[in-house]
Amino acid sequence: MKTVSHTWCDTCEKRGFTCEHDASKALGRARTHRSRAADKAGTRRGMRVENRHYECPAGLWHLTGMSRRNVRA
Ligand SMILES: [Zn+2]
Repeated sequence: MKTVSHTWCDTCEKRGFTCEHDASKALGRARTHRSRAADKAGTRRGMRVENRHYECPAGLWHLTGMSRRNVRA
């Protein structure tokens, strides 16, 4: 499987991507992978799915699985 290049973000202490394009590619791959696993298990309940990507203060891009319900405006 081809991997999308990523880098370590010291600010967030997690994996990050150097550009939005890579983050969006990784997001697409993660979603495909997760939905296949969900089909196999027969349910999506309890599965964390990354559904957004965002730019952090360090200028890197991260994925987040937060749903709208968990985001306070
Ligand atoms: Zn970051």
